[in-house]
Amino acid sequence: MDGHTTLDDAIAAVLSHVSPLETEDVPLGRASGRVVAAAALARVDLPPFASSAMDGFAVRSVDTPGTLRVTARIAAGRPATVALGGGEAMAIATGGVVPEGADAVVPIENVREDADRVEVPAVEAGAHVRPRGGDVRAGDEVVRAGARLGPAQLGAVAAAGADRVTCARRPRAAVLATGTELRPAGAELAAGEIYDANGTLLAAALVTAGCDVDVIEPVADDEAAHREALTRALEGDVVVTSGGVSVGPHDLVRTIAAELGVEEVFWRVAVKPGKPVSFGVRGRTLLFGLPGNPVSTLVGFELFVRPAVRALQGERDPGPRWEDAVLDRAVRRDPRDQLVRARRTATGLEPLTGQESHMIVRAAEADALALVPHGDGELAAGSPVRYLRLG
Ligand code: AMP
Ligand code: MG
Repeated sequence: MDGHTTLDDAIAAVLSHVSPLETEDVPLGRASGRVVAAAALARVDLPPFASSAMDGFAVRSVDTPGTLRVTARIAAGRPATVALGGGEAMAIATGGVVPEGADAVVPIENVREDADRVEVPAVEAGAHVRPRGGDVRAGDEVVRAGARLGPAQLGAVAAAGADRVTCARRPRAAVLATGTELRPAGAELAAGEIYDANGTLLAAALVTAGCDVDVIEPVADDEAAHREALTRALEGDVVVTSGGVSVGPHDLVRTIAAELGVEEVFWRVAVKPGKPVSFGVRGRTLLFGLPGNPVSTLVGFELFVRPAVRALQGERDPGPRWEDAVLDRAVRRDPRDQLVRARRTATGLEPLTGQESHMIVRAAEADALALVPHGDGELAAGSPVRYLRLG
């Protein structure tokens, strides 16, 4: 398409240049959102002992139905000191240790209790007993390598007794917005100036992707300023720049990056928005030169940068993570593959109005990027498409 790299080739080229970062041990309290590099294993059987699933009475199933003598009351965390004998029952709380000799629990709502006697219906062996190791066995995998640790995974690791997990270290990323016209939020705008959207956008996106982020002050379209800022940026694992990758005389990112030893892997991808995107490497450092229009920056991040950052952390399925839906409305095709800003609805994807690449406020309404493959005419309402979720 246009003689430019195709979207699929560009994504594959990026991922082929990424290898996972070194690992470190991370205490559970600081592991939220991190990617597991070596499977987290259970330290104990879970549950660690046969425990009651209900408040009720521990019994021997062979004694049921019948009227049994209550010989002890077992709270969670306080096991009985004696075994359960024939004709006996022990009151037990949910999570209590099922005493030796007992093989079932009768829920409290199914019994008639009278002083130290309890009348129980027939129960089967194993009823309302959570067997030791029923969730996981000591030594077995709790979270596999390549998984990202969310609340459920962290809870599982904690329950299974590990206090640390081995994770890839957090990628160090630098953000550099370029453009003489850029001013920081809060400043007064002089004629011809605009506020820097991309520095803020990219910093937030990189944090959500798991990076430690160095946000460099935006630079003017000036060679010395680019040289100084890119030199600093290239010390990390990932550099994401915005602006200055088109063909104008003020577009300096690619030439200065090359001067600093960055080898360009591709420049220009047959995608809309964001065609002039460039990608290069210096050693293990990845440099993404995203075009300056904020929606191009947003789209370029989701297509190329987020998958690369996931791969750096050793995440399985780095993406882009396409999902399937149908278009609620027709979309005009383009000679390039398009990422259309859309909202997810009960029936599919509703393309938003205002699809130009400078319209970041319109794009901020979107929760999906629908991929409309290149072609002629329209992609009709009801057509299946792939899409990326926006966070
Ligand atoms: P460029 O890719 O440098 O040619 O910029 C393309 C368009 O995006 C121009 O209209 C720029 O003013 C605008 N632009 C560049 N950088 C930013 C930024 N950080 N925030 C908002 N708009 C930008
Ligand atoms: Mg520019």
